[in-house]
Amino acid sequence: MSKYIINHKKKTVHLSSYVCDECRIPNYESTIREDSTDEEHVHFLIHTSYEQCPYCFELSPTMTTPKTRVL
Ligand SMILES: [Zn+2]
Repeated sequence: MSKYIINHKKKTVHLSSYVCDECRIPNYESTIREDSTDEEHVHFLIHTSYEQCPYCFELSPTMTTPKTRVL
């Protein structure tokens, strides 16, 4: 089961299994961080205004969600 870590300040979604130093997860305050296992919720965020963390998703061999980075 996938678990996601969502940063609501930077609007970035991380994969908890693949979080690395570059993600700086420990710096996230609880008020802007949400842990989620709800794929639909995460996909909705990604398809609106959120961005997949390039570090986590690059490392994930099973993640099939296409990157929809909005720069
Ligand atoms: Zn990340």
